[in-house]
Amino acid sequence: GAMIRFEHVTKRYPDGTTAVDDLSFEVAEGELVTLVGPSGCGKTTTMKMVNRLIEPSDGRISVDGRDIAAVDPVELRRGIGYVIQQVGLFPHKTVLENTATVPHLLGWSRARARARAAELLDLVGLDPAVHGPRYPEQLSGGQRQRVGVARALAADPPVLLMDEPFGAVDPVVRDHLQSAFLRLQSQVRKTVLFVTHDIEEAVRLGDRIAVYGQGRIEQFDAPAAVLGAP
Ligand code: ADP
Ligand code: ADP
Repeated sequence: GAMIRFEHVTKRYPDGTTAVDDLSFEVAEGELVTLVGPSGCGKTTTMKMVNRLIEPSDGRISVDGRDIAAVDPVELRRGIGYVIQQVGLFPHKTVLENTATVPHLLGWSRARARARAAELLDLVGLDPAVHGPRYPEQLSGGQRQRVGVARALAADPPVLLMDEPFGAVDPVVRDHLQSAFLRLQSQVRKTVLFVTHDIEEAVRLGDRIAVYGQGRIEQFDAPAAVLGAP
């Protein structure tokens, strides 16, 4: 069934900008949908409405069958991992501690949280023994983004929101991160909304691609169809 559903969703900002205009779409459970389009077309606004960082002006959004307007935002976000372009890691905590923070906040014992963190680091392609004890500044940009993905998965949320998570790294590293993420997704099967302005990335990662025009989705289809293959 649909894990994320938008029904006639519009977002007007107070200054009158209509960022998203009467948007309706569904994302199936375990599906990875990439949102692609030029800067300013409403991708980030769409994404931030899913975890209620932004409230729609009109329409209805449901996650796992529940109208999110009726769900406490803190509770909602427990089920939604969020990864942005510059993941903010705690600079005075090690990579392992950064990753263990969420399970610890969920009330897990310190030992169990750390074991889970090690497992997650391994899942994103970092060596818990090598990278776990390091501090964020001792990592490359690509490695920090991997930690961001590990941390977003810590509470095992069914939904992941990713806003240009690999946008700030060089092309070779981006290529590594994309393949690592595809491997990871084949194991964890999250429902993912992935924002990018890079059509190649959208095609490589997406089960389906939402191609944005100004405030609207102009095409929503499998990569082959978007590329115009017969
Ligand atoms: P994208 O993620 O595709 O770059 P955004 O969702 O960030 O697009 O922005 C969509 C439109 O909404 C743009 O015209 C942008 O300038 C505008 N916008 C975004 N945030 C705000 C805001 N807080 N106030 C007013 N306009 C905004
Ligand atoms: P990837 O994430 O695909 O492995 P990265 O750019 O993150 O690519 O890292 C490439 C390699 O370069 C890493 O294995 C890492 O050991 C090394 N490296 C890059 N920058 C640093 C740094 N600041 N500190 C330690 N190692 C680094």
